Amino acid sequence: MNTVHDINTAARTATVDAGVILSSLHEAADDHDLIFPVTFGAKGSAMIGGILSTNAGGSNVLRYGNTRDLVLGIEAVLADGRVVDLMSSLRKDNSGLNLRHLLVGAEGTLGIITKAVLKLAPKPRTYATAMVAVASLDAALALLNRLQDETGGAVEAFEYMPRHYIDVHMARVDGAREPFDAPHDINIMVEVATTTAMDIEDMLQSILADAMERGDVADAVVAQNEAQRRTMWERREAAAELTFWRSPIVDTDVALPLDQVQTFLDRATARAADLDPGCEPFFISHLGDGNVHYSVYPTRADAELHDKIVEAIEDTVEELGGSFSAEHGVGLSKLNTMRRRKDGVALDMMRKMKVTLDPHGILNPGKTIPD
Ligand SMILES: Cc1cc2nc3c(=O)[nH]c(=O)nc-3n(C[C@H](O)[C@H](O)[C@H](O)COP(=O)(O)OP(=O)(O)OC[C@H]3O[C@@H](n4cnc5c(N)ncnc54)[C@H](O)[C@@H]3O)c2cc1C
Repeated sequence: MNTVHDINTAARTATVDAGVILSSLHEAADDHDLIFPVTFGAKGSAMIGGILSTNAGGSNVLRYGNTRDLVLGIEAVLADGRVVDLMSSLRKDNSGLNLRHLLVGAEGTLGIITKAVLKLAPKPRTYATAMVAVASLDAALALLNRLQDETGGAVEAFEYMPRHYIDVHMARVDGAREPFDAPHDINIMVEVATTTAMDIEDMLQSILADAMERGDVADAVVAQNEAQRRTMWERREAAAELTFWRSPIVDTDVALPLDQVQTFLDRATARAADLDPGCEPFFISHLGDGNVHYSVYPTRADAELHDKIVEAIEDTVEELGGSFSAEHGVGLSKLNTMRRRKDGVALDMMRKMKVTLDPHGILNPGKTIPD
């Protein structure tokens, strides 16, 4: 089940089996000057079924949305063996409940996805990519909004790498280089892209030059060629390796309103330090969509301490109107959190759907939807 059945260039859709690897779909779309915009570090192994089931996000959510926003049709096998055929390529279809959106993000608890129709987007003619240093996340947000306004919403990625991330990258990756001549605390990788003849690189250069003159940006380096662009992306895409090489670790994947990210970081870090003086925070953020992969390395492996730190982080997220699960889903590791934090009525609805569609509990039993 790993066939790309059709790339429809007129309708800009792809019909694919669930076992197609993300990078294979990227290549198939590229052959037609189109893109499937979802992308992240695991693109060489993640399959469409897993991507749909986890409603994966990645670095381009800012412009193209999550996986859910890119699905037009779906086919799935239900627990009783029936096949539900929702393989539509329609952009509008109000014929009853949206079952496609129910299956996407269900983490395999309601059915096994076998096929999908996905939206493709035109391939940008030009990408302009830069590393930018700013003094604060407020300044970063102001820059993001300015870039969106002046480029007509062409920002594809706006990724925050704090100083400690750069330090670990330098220490652990052969040939890694500092993004700037002098070290900065807040390092942003920004990418803008256009399908038009607009000189997007020139536009990015002049916005950044002006922002530097006004003191809004401390430093900026624009990639001059594809190799430099790749180097910037490789630094960002090393996140999983740079996070999980140490243990013990408390790792979270949270979403916050865009203007609350700094408050979250300050509060969560202070609370973790209160619980475990000497613990070290480590984080990276898809800042453009408010998603923070916030981890803490505690000073000792202690299950009780681990839970307390998780609770403190989740309390902070809740206070700020965020979500304890941004793009990695719930699985087993966030089951208790679901039980504690998710709205009770929402949980009740989820349980009823699960019992109705999978009365014998054979689809990913015990995952995602707590008893
Ligand atoms: C290095 C790295 C970087 C990553 N970066 C990001 C990121 O930036 N953003 C992001 O959103 N995610 C990221 N991820 C997570 C990634 O999105 C998921 O790991 C991936 O999409 C899951 O696809 P998979 O084929 O590996 O699925 P699996 O891990 O095999 O499965 C994931 C879940 O989906 C279910 N499932 C799988 N196939 C089907 C199917 N056909 N029907 C129903 N259920 C199914 C499984 O039972 C499981 O619950 C990253 C992962 C790695 C390893």
